[in-house]
Amino acid sequence: MQADVLVLGAGMVGVSAALALQSRGRNVVLVDRRPAAEETSYGNAGLIQREGVVPYGFPRDWRIILKSALNQTTQSNLHWGALPWIAPSLYRYWRYGTPDRIEATTQAAVPLVERSLDEHEALMMAADCEHLVRRTGYLKVFRDEALLAAELEIDKRVRRVWGVVSEAKTEAELRALEPSLQGRLAGGILLPQPWSVSDPSALGKAYARLFVDRGGSFLTADASTLERTADGWQVQRVEGAIQAKDAVVALGPWSGALLSRLGVRLPFFVKRGYHMHYRLAGNSAPARPLIDGDHGFLLSSMAHGIRLTTGAEFARHGAAPSPVQLGKVEPIARALFPLGERVDTAPWLGARPCLPDMLPMIGAVPGHRGLWIDSGHHHLGFTLGPVTGRLLAEMMTGEAPFTDPRPYRVDRFA
Ligand SMILES: Cc1cc2nc3c(=O)[nH]c(=O)nc-3n(C[C@H](O)[C@H](O)[C@H](O)COP(=O)(O)OP(=O)(O)OC[C@H]3O[C@@H](n4cnc5c(N)ncnc54)[C@H](O)[C@@H]3O)c2cc1C
Repeated sequence: MQADVLVLGAGMVGVSAALALQSRGRNVVLVDRRPAAEETSYGNAGLIQREGVVPYGFPRDWRIILKSALNQTTQSNLHWGALPWIAPSLYRYWRYGTPDRIEATTQAAVPLVERSLDEHEALMMAADCEHLVRRTGYLKVFRDEALLAAELEIDKRVRRVWGVVSEAKTEAELRALEPSLQGRLAGGILLPQPWSVSDPSALGKAYARLFVDRGGSFLTADASTLERTADGWQVQRVEGAIQAKDAVVALGPWSGALLSRLGVRLPFFVKRGYHMHYRLAGNSAPARPLIDGDHGFLLSSMAHGIRLTTGAEFARHGAAPSPVQLGKVEPIARALFPLGERVDTAPWLGARPCLPDMLPMIGAVPGHRGLWIDSGHHHLGFTLGPVTGRLLAEMMTGEAPFTDPRPYRVDRFA
């Protein structure tokens, strides 16, 4: 089978890239070993984060670093035994946590983040799946006044400069917005611009269906069979090879491993995360996603119940699940909002594909003609899939890119 482009990986990022290339006249074959959007793009928090301009930087305050290293916070969990493998990545991530580097990442993230809603909107309309989206924004709540004040300061100093709207709320205002909130609160922040979806996987699948309805091929294949041919790339299937002039690596947290087998070493690492669904307690469902600003977890009403997602776990990608953060935050979540019993038999585990500067990697792989990458979308892949797919497709087809793609180039860590 012959195509123009082979897109490897059918998560939100790969499906979106396939659609963007297809709409520019390319004959695209999308491959995955699983159905669309069943990995990281399945289990995330479902936020389309128009406010997400400030990266999750490595903490610089040694007290926070020490507490995190000792696993005394709910925001993160470190597998000490993984350090021989992940310490170099953590060191690079730490180096990108200086104020000027955070500022540089923020500036580079803005052109992508500010177009994220528009790009999703166009796909949602075409795929007839707008019923999945809620344009309610989300609410960040705090018990700790100092943490609330620090967050409001970042809103004032940085986010507002980049067009992010935020509204400070008193405890009474929070309760008016979310009458089921429990316990004492210092206040919170309403971020009205972000959207959320009731089923992230359903959205990814709807976009994949649109790609197929428009004439694209979505086939089962193992991307690790990728190899160079005389004039392009191919992957193997039992039915025969699929060949194309160009190949796009959009394998999310598996991208780094595939590229390193081709001799391309990139500083990918993962921040793992868990989710669990809970039945409603009575009729109490949050009207919009709630983020606990003190403890770094999220609650959102989803198709399978109220989904709780956790912060970051620093571990080897393939290590066995260790949902200690979920265990720690579950009682805190229950004290914040009424939750019924657990729905899932085991917590879901996924991995955010990260690079040290918390920017995605989009563009040609140097030294490998016809090989492209669209990956490393860290905490924002669900948000940025469509907009980075557009940027990649513009670069691949010679169209003028809507923004300068250099901040996302593959050789930026060389
Ligand atoms: C707990 C949690 C909460 C999050 N919340 C949000 C959020 O609210 N908003 C947001 O924007 N982002 C969020 N994210 C991040 C977001 O989910 C990811 O950045 C995004 O899903 C990455 O998409 P992807 O397509 O790159 O990867 P994936 O969705 O993982 O897709 C990669 C695909 O590659 C396929 N694949 C892998 N290896 C092979 C192979 N050998 N052969 C064939 N196929 C292969 C997989 O089957 C998979 O379908 C969250 C992440 C986590 C873990």
